[in-house]
Amino acid sequence: MNLTIYRGTNEIGGNCIEIESGNSRILLDCGIPLEAISTKNFNISDYKIDIKANYDAVFVTHAHPDHYGLLALLTDETPIYGSVDTCELLKNIAPLTTKFQTKNLNLKVLDKTVQVGEFLVTPHSIDHSIAGACAFEIFCKNKTILYTGDIRFHGRCKGKNKALISNVKNVDYLIMEGTTISRVGQEKVFEDDLISLFEDEFKKDKLPLVQVSAQNIDRFVTIYKACLKSKKTLVIDPYSCYVLELYGKNNKNIPQFSWNNIRVYRANNSITNVLETNGFLKKYMKKEISANEIQKYPHKFVLKGNFDINNLCFSKFKNEELNIIFSMWKGYLDRPSYLDKYKDVTTYIHTSGHSTVGDLQQFVDNIRPKAIIPIHTECKDKYKALFNSNIIEIMDNETIYL
Ligand SMILES: [Zn+2]
Repeated sequence: MNLTIYRGTNEIGGNCIEIESGNSRILLDCGIPLEAISTKNFNISDYKIDIKANYDAVFVTHAHPDHYGLLALLTDETPIYGSVDTCELLKNIAPLTTKFQTKNLNLKVLDKTVQVGEFLVTPHSIDHSIAGACAFEIFCKNKTILYTGDIRFHGRCKGKNKALISNVKNVDYLIMEGTTISRVGQEKVFEDDLISLFEDEFKKDKLPLVQVSAQNIDRFVTIYKACLKSKKTLVIDPYSCYVLELYGKNNKNIPQFSWNNIRVYRANNSITNVLETNGFLKKYMKKEISANEIQKYPHKFVLKGNFDINNLCFSKFKNEELNIIFSMWKGYLDRPSYLDKYKDVTTYIHTSGHSTVGDLQQFVDNIRPKAIIPIHTECKDKYKALFNSNIIEIMDNETIYL
């Protein structure tokens, strides 16, 4: 087998891994570097990598752009495998929210082992900050490769990682992310522990305005639970309604716009327009709340932020009347965006989508791979000191024989 990592050996994101054996060739993820996400005048050719246009199949671990953003470089016929949630996100959500082309993808739901040429590929559901994240186990020529994608051990899906650890045996090569190795001082905070932190904030005599990704379903549930505990109604935008509805198809515990303490503010943006054209908006607007109602009874509500609702708040309320809560990776605040007002935010409630170093060490001790190949990290040189295994450091575009 030949393994080539086109990108991701020296950075967090942009993962793109090719494995070739005989006439069979597959790709694991096809991501774009994180910086491309906030680049204005995005042009895919600026981020082009030397991959072929044709693969027997591509396997996408999860629907974050740094793992799928370059799929448009492939031919339309290429089969793209992912979990049911990943396929749903790539098909229905990504076209609304990102500039990364995902139309016309030949998506295939992967829920059990599939044979592609000489490869047997098995998906394993894991814990990450987006629904449907998987690790992939690849078996070929009597060797087993395990690719983690992005993984953590402190979210609500952490139990899935236990199944991965007990089901995957005799790993020869572990291609493992190491995001947090460069983020020093990161403590392990469980997603469930955030509920009471939000609850305390929501009980204060201010209108909570929470910036959070609707796709981070764990966090959404956390905020919803905190609303229940503090007896607040959660106000969301039509886009969030749509995301929750898609996730809800596969999980009946996901809060829906129709539930009792959720109302919908008609954010004025292009996504709302698309949802209106597609006929979804009419349904969501049965739960509509007006700006006037929010202004009249601010103590009743918790608002999920977006460009439009943030502007509403900043124009109708004084800063001291708002409790601005940022619940995403802090790095986003360093980028020029509509989040500028959040730069002075005093309330920061978040836990990472990535494993702490300690949990990665424990994971390696459990999996006991013969070798680790670092990816999705700025610190591959530190793996040797941190992990109890052989480390194979490779560079972007380098091919090694396994
Ligand atoms: Zn991710």
